[in-house]
Amino acid sequence: MTRGRLAVHAHFYQPRRADPFSGRMPAEPAAAPYPNWNARIDAEAYRPNAERGNLQRISWDLGPTLASWLEAEDPPTYSAFQKAAPSRAIAQAYHHSILPLASAADRRTEVRWGIRDFELRLGFRPKGLWLPETAVDLPTLALLAEEGIAYTILAPWQSAETPTETRRPYRVSVGSGHSIGVMFYDGALSAAVSFEPAASEDAHQFARDRVAPRLARGPFPDGTVPVVLIATDGELYGHHQVFRDLFLEHLVAPEPEEIQSRTFDLVDLEDVMAEPIDQEFANARIRERTSWSCHHGVARWSAECPDAADGRWKGPLRAALDRLAGGVDAVSEGVIRDAGVTVNFWEARDAYVDVVSGAESGAQFLTRCLGSRSAVSEARRAHLLELLEAQRWRLAMFASDGWFWDDPIREETAQNLLAAARAVRIVDKVAGTHLERFLVADLALFTSPSRKVDGAELYTRALESVGQRAPK
Ligand SMILES: [Zn+2]
Repeated sequence: MTRGRLAVHAHFYQPRRADPFSGRMPAEPAAAPYPNWNARIDAEAYRPNAERGNLQRISWDLGPTLASWLEAEDPPTYSAFQKAAPSRAIAQAYHHSILPLASAADRRTEVRWGIRDFELRLGFRPKGLWLPETAVDLPTLALLAEEGIAYTILAPWQSAETPTETRRPYRVSVGSGHSIGVMFYDGALSAAVSFEPAASEDAHQFARDRVAPRLARGPFPDGTVPVVLIATDGELYGHHQVFRDLFLEHLVAPEPEEIQSRTFDLVDLEDVMAEPIDQEFANARIRERTSWSCHHGVARWSAECPDAADGRWKGPLRAALDRLAGGVDAVSEGVIRDAGVTVNFWEARDAYVDVVSGAESGAQFLTRCLGSRSAVSEARRAHLLELLEAQRWRLAMFASDGWFWDDPIREETAQNLLAAARAVRIVDKVAGTHLERFLVADLALFTSPSRKVDGAELYTRALESVGQRAPK
C-alpha cells in the first residue's frame, strides 16, 4: 500500500511599519515588552521556528516587507530563512495588495517585484508564488504563468467545484493554451491548526487522528498518490498560538527509526507540484475574485461585507486611492514626456525594484535605463528617479492590511495613508500640481465607525504622528 503524503506551507508576512518619510519604526506600546509588533512576533514565531529547523521541513513564503525588516534586525533568523530556501521558498507579490482589485499594470509590477526581490535575496528564481490573501482571478493566474510561475496555493472554496477533492494538485487553464498548477489546501486540517487550539496540543495525536484518516485511500486513477496540504499564516506557530512552534517541529521532524509511528510521508510541496499533472483527471476551474480570509469574494478589501460591523468606509477609501493613483500616473507620464526622456515609464517602474531592494544605486539604475552618455539633463534624470520613488509608495498604499480590520482608525490604515502622502507630495513637488487637495477631499467622503472622524482628519493625524506638516 502506498503511503499518503503531508505537506505544510506557512505564509510569513508583516506589513511595513516604518514611517515612509523617515524610515523610522514608531513605538508600538501594545507590543510590550517588545518595542514593536515585528520584534514581538519575531521572538515568538520567526526565531523559534528558525531555531527548531522547521523552515527546512515546510514550504513557506516570506513577504518582502518582513524580509527586509528581518535582514536588518535579526540577521541570524534571516540567514536561517536564506539557508532553508532552496526547494522550500516561494515568492510573494511585493506589497501584499489584493491583485484582483489592482490595475493590470499594478498587478504586473507587484508580481515582477515579488519575483525579483526573491531572486535578489535567495539567489534563484521562484517556482511558486503566494497571492496575498490568496485573492485570485483568471487574469492574475494568466499573469503568473506569463511570468514563469509554475504554481500557487488556494483555499478549497476557491475551486469552482464544491466540495472539491483537495488531496491532489490541479492544473487551471488560463487561456492561449497555457495553464498553471494549483494546490487547494486542506480546509479542515488547516482550520484545525489555525483555530482549534485543542487539536494542536499534541502533534502525534494530530497526525494519527486528523492527518492519517485524510490519507486513508489509495492512489487516484492517474496514479497520483494522495497529498494533503496544511496552509496557514506562519505567525500562527508561536505567536497566534503559543508553543505551536513545538507542535510544528514534532509534526514535521523526521521520526527516529525505532518509533516510526507515522503512517504517511512528509513531502515538499515543490516536489509534489513538479510531478506531471494529468489535465484529464485534474483540470480545475477557479471561482473568480475570491480569497482565503473573506467568504464574500474580495469585498473585505473594497466594500461592505459581514466581516466588518460597519464597512461603509472601505469602498470610499479604495476609490480615493484609485483616483490618486490615476492622477499620479497621468502627471508622471506627462512630466517624463515633456522632458523628452525616452524611457518607457512602466518598464522603468518594473525595473526600479533593484533600487528599492538596495541592489543598485539610483545613479546605476539611471545609467541602465538611459545609458551613460544620455543627453538628458541632470535635473530631468533626478525627476525620473523621484517619480519612480513616488510609484513605490503609490503601490505600497494598496497593502491589503489597510482594509482588513473593522475601522480605519487603526495603524494599518494610517500606514496606507502615509504611503499615499509620500507619493502625492513627491509628485506635487516635481510637477507643481495639487493632487493632494483632491486626495484630501476624497478622503473626507468616509468616516471611522468608532470615532466619527472622517478620512481627511485621519490623514492629517497620520502625518502629524510622524512629524509631517498637515495638508494645506
Ligand atoms: Zn467578507
